[in-house]
Amino acid sequence: MSGSKPVFTPNPEQMALWPSISGNEINGLGQTDKSRPHPIYWHDPDKTPHGPLQRWFYARSSADPQLIAARAVRQRVLDMPLSELSSQRIDLPAATWTDRIKKVARELGADLVGIAEMQPEWVFEGHEIAQKWIVMFGVAHDYEQMKLAPAVAAGAEVVRQYARGNEVAKGVASFIREHGHEAHAHGGPMAGPVLLIPPALACGFGELGKHGSLINREFGSSFRLASVLTDLPLLADGPDIFGADEFCTHCRVCSDACPPDALVQVKQMVRGEQKWYVDFDKCLPYFNETMGCGICVAVCPWSRPGVAKNLVEKMSTRASRKTLTD
Ligand code: SF4
Ligand code: SF4
Repeated sequence: MSGSKPVFTPNPEQMALWPSISGNEINGLGQTDKSRPHPIYWHDPDKTPHGPLQRWFYARSSADPQLIAARAVRQRVLDMPLSELSSQRIDLPAATWTDRIKKVARELGADLVGIAEMQPEWVFEGHEIAQKWIVMFGVAHDYEQMKLAPAVAAGAEVVRQYARGNEVAKGVASFIREHGHEAHAHGGPMAGPVLLIPPALACGFGELGKHGSLINREFGSSFRLASVLTDLPLLADGPDIFGADEFCTHCRVCSDACPPDALVQVKQMVRGEQKWYVDFDKCLPYFNETMGCGICVAVCPWSRPGVAKNLVEKMSTRASRKTLTD
């Protein structure tokens, strides 16, 4: 722990609900073989050990007017039905569908859109995915609200962007279905059948940061994800490596700011992959008590409007110099 950060002591009422199993164990921390993730949070609370904590989160936050308003909007979007699957199937080349899907997503408000081929290790245990493609969407936060984290205003902003992400995903899924192809939409806060960060990394949304969130070359970490699963013929995008991971090895802004010290300076082995990892058992109590925390996303230098582009240039210059001196 750094400096004179106050020690965070979790609410005993919350900790009385804590299960006997560690969330890090469920997440596969220290596990060297590749395996599918286990549902842990934002899944059916009746079927997960940390489900009572998920209920506690909602019970505590239900009276805040900003959250009530944002959640009402989100619920309206979540309740929107998808278009019926048309019996008249339109067949076009993958490149044409790819252009159309991206155009529709942008028109619906997506700030980022990318496509990845589904991988089995992205699918939660207990779920099966038949579709070949996952279309990813990113919707940017209003940073003026996010920078207020851990105030409830930041939590409400996250809820608003989940609504926007769901709206984009549902609109794109409906568009695909109206052309006779199967499509399923998914957006937060519930986790759904598939991890969203790995496909977002695969389709070029950015790199994984020390804070366990994506870092995008334009929006930093200040955005939310949503997705569509489909068999529509599409073309995959590739990853975007611009130096964020390297930047994280020399930066500790998020780890210094994290009240429960859930972020560490070295990558860890998680289900067969060495990567930045958030200590679930340390993060969750603070996250729950602040209606979603968000400090690490807000303080990340890449998240400040206009900064990410400059950092991309800086990392590019640094990489070029290193190549010359190697
Ligand atoms: S969400 Fe909050 S508690 Fe969790 S890792 Fe980020 S700063 Fe720490
Ligand atoms: S605050 Fe620094 S260390 Fe943390 S994710 Fe952002 S760049 Fe990486």
